[in-house]
Amino acid sequence: MSNFDDFADLNAAIAVQLEARQSTAEARAAKTRLTRLPANSAEAAADRAKIAEWESKHEWKAVGMIAVFEHETCEACDTTGERFVQFLQEEHHRRERGARRLQAKPAPIAGLPLRAAIQRRLVPMCPDCAPVLFDLDLTTAEEL
Ligand SMILES: [Zn+2]
Repeated sequence: MSNFDDFADLNAAIAVQLEARQSTAEARAAKTRLTRLPANSAEAAADRAKIAEWESKHEWKAVGMIAVFEHETCEACDTTGERFVQFLQEEHHRRERGARRLQAKPAPIAGLPLRAAIQRRLVPMCPDCAPVLFDLDLTTAEEL
């Protein structure tokens, strides 16, 4: 390796360190600014995106996607049903062993493995039981 190569490697390493320091400072500034901005403003959305980008690069590593389904059982008639709820991105913390978080995403992220998960829950009534148990007419139900 020539001296020129040594300097090129050193310059590349310094550039990486400077970029990391700059992006960390920008993420900190965005977190501070975010506390003062209206939550639904464009500036707040841009700061949240900047913080998320920094976190995904330095704090959290995406390891997979989960398609969440809900399995409901009616306590009154034992009818069961499944429905899709949402996609979650599973992330592991880069330094804190065992720490993980789940982030809602509109669709699976290409390149990440996708698996299914089921949340089971009991509900006090289903659409078939509602008219019998509580005299509720779902054909005239309001939209929420
Ligand atoms: Zn039922």
